[in-house]
Amino acid sequence: MRAYILGIDIGTGSTKAVAVNFEGKPIGESQFYYPISNPKPGYQEQNPFQILEAFKNCITSIINKIGESPIAISFSCAMHTLIPVDKDCWPLAEMMTWADYRSESIAERIRTGNEGELLYRACGTPIHAMSPLCKIIWLRENIHDLFVNTYKFISIKEFIWHYLFNEFEVDYSIASSSGLFNILDLNWDTKACELAGITSNQLSNLVKTTYLRDKIVHKALNELNLNPNTKFVIGASDGCCANLGSDTILAGTAALTIGTSGAVRITGKKPIYNFNSMTFNYLLNNQTYVSGGAINNGGIVFKWLVNTFTNENTKTGEDAYNSALNQIKNIAVGSDDLVFLPYLYGERAPIWDTKSCGVFFNIKPSHTSAHFLRAGLEGICYALFDVLTTIETSSAPIKQLNISGGFINSPIWVQILADITGKRLSIVQTEDASAIGAIYLAMEALDISIPKNENLESIEPDMNNHQQYNQAFKLFKLLYTNLKDTMHLINR
Ligand code: ADP
Repeated sequence: MRAYILGIDIGTGSTKAVAVNFEGKPIGESQFYYPISNPKPGYQEQNPFQILEAFKNCITSIINKIGESPIAISFSCAMHTLIPVDKDCWPLAEMMTWADYRSESIAERIRTGNEGELLYRACGTPIHAMSPLCKIIWLRENIHDLFVNTYKFISIKEFIWHYLFNEFEVDYSIASSSGLFNILDLNWDTKACELAGITSNQLSNLVKTTYLRDKIVHKALNELNLNPNTKFVIGASDGCCANLGSDTILAGTAALTIGTSGAVRITGKKPIYNFNSMTFNYLLNNQTYVSGGAINNGGIVFKWLVNTFTNENTKTGEDAYNSALNQIKNIAVGSDDLVFLPYLYGERAPIWDTKSCGVFFNIKPSHTSAHFLRAGLEGICYALFDVLTTIETSSAPIKQLNISGGFINSPIWVQILADITGKRLSIVQTEDASAIGAIYLAMEALDISIPKNENLESIEPDMNNHQQYNQAFKLFKLLYTNLKDTMHLINR
């Protein structure tokens, strides 16, 4: 018998399952994709049933591959989703993803109002359109019938959990990314609920992240072809799970991810507040906070750079990335003073400016398309360094960054990041760190000892390059400060 635990990461573009044995070794994985729709500017929606289907497919395909049911299944999940549902958990509208910005002006109103900072300190979530708090207010102000008819406002994780157990339950971690949960009292926040115009009865029952259940409903048991003894652990949000899964629990380490977007996160016993940069504070468990900042403009901008500044259109995916990266090898550190602000999709931390935009500055005739590519990568790394320095000023110094995400496939990009930040980088976990973190929560719940992560590879910074990048970073900051008003003028 092959005893294993299944970690399921419900992401924005796909759901991924990773099967790990009790020694911590991955023994199988599966992944199923689903579409995202943008029906109007600022809207980003998904169909909850398509995500549920991917979830079911992940489980059945793993069981088919391995030939056994897992001992337990545990969850990691994308944050800030919102689905208004009726009593039977039937969606009354499509799901809004984290990237749905339709409530932008509501967020602005709350942020600049009298209660903005108090609310941020109580609930830990940046006051931003991504927050379910702002999304609920948008529904109340714009589709009142739907708002009035909603029995509960839930996330995609609660939707899937309800399919399994016919119960409305949510873990502290996903709740802490809603903007409605008091991260100090560990309860729904009365003020935030008042502001949303709802009562806490319209939200799910709160449980800790190691909460365990078995005996799934008959329909799900049959559809998933599971052993009836399989246990389910509710787990946490993807950011919190990723810190756990990449060993970023110790003081002095931070997790840094560049996937489609990007983030820097540390783990601590207290929240880290910074109202201007609105660091987030999400709960991994009852006393552990994962704090940090997320950027919009990560790998998605690199993808744009490759499409725009190379003629790699004939190639796809990895091939296009690799040959684009080959071209920048001979370009000097600092791209011969070509500076790039990567804010193509507006930006979250630390500038929180939806009207910011992308900029190439100081273009000279000597600059080639390869300079634009290198300056592009440097700009993405400066944006993350900006978040890192903000976190460092409010916490202890960070010595090591545990890195993950698609960019780790590129040694040159990874070295640029090491040189810009001046930190040692460590690749701790190549499998999906969020799914692994969910598995560790299941191991804790089941009292199985958590295996030690192996450090796969370390990358040291070149401190001479770091000195040079420090000067360029000052220019990067100055450039945004000086251009901000003009960006707002053109994007008003
Ligand atoms: P997500 O999980 O957010 O969907 P990934 O972690 O898979 O994203 O990262 C995708 C990004 O990683 C791409 O947009 C691209 O910028 C970058 N990427 C993927 N493959 C490579 C590669 N071989 N070299 C450099 N960057 C890559």
